[in-house]
Amino acid sequence: MSWSLLLLAMGLLVLGCERRMVGEGTGPAMSGEGVEGTVVKSDAEWRKELTPEQYAVLREKGTERPFTGEYDHTFERGTYVCAACGNELFTSDTKFNSGCGWPAFYAAKAGDRVKLTQDYSHGMSRVEVTCARCGSHLGHIFNDAPDQPTGQRYCINSVSLKFIPAPR
Ligand SMILES: [Zn+2]
Repeated sequence: MSWSLLLLAMGLLVLGCERRMVGEGTGPAMSGEGVEGTVVKSDAEWRKELTPEQYAVLREKGTERPFTGEYDHTFERGTYVCAACGNELFTSDTKFNSGCGWPAFYAAKAGDRVKLTQDYSHGMSRVEVTCARCGSHLGHIFNDAPDQPTGQRYCINSVSLKFIPAPR
């Protein structure tokens, strides 16, 4: 009994270290910038609540394989919320078919719903998009959509989102 407790404690310590290391790469974790009810949970809690696929993308900044996501070709009317915390992030009004293999939006539902952070990982210079409420990784934003009203493309993982159809 005590042996298994010790193992559990060691596991938690390891998880804690990983979390700090991830945090270091993304700059100061400024929370609560105009966002109501910031959600802070431990990695163990997220692991329990999310599927392994969701955890890998939302909490470990993974990327789902292109053209495999549930919402790549969803164009019904509705709202896309954060799969981790339910924060309303995007609406179907700004979704477009970019052909890149991931859901694309030209704007967030409101500027303060997402947080943009410079990301130099994988030898690239990109701007990471995270949920402003819970800090989960959503995808990246690119200035390569000149035919869209903002010229911007939010390239978002389906697994980071949950679609809520508009009431009929
Ligand atoms: Zn969230």
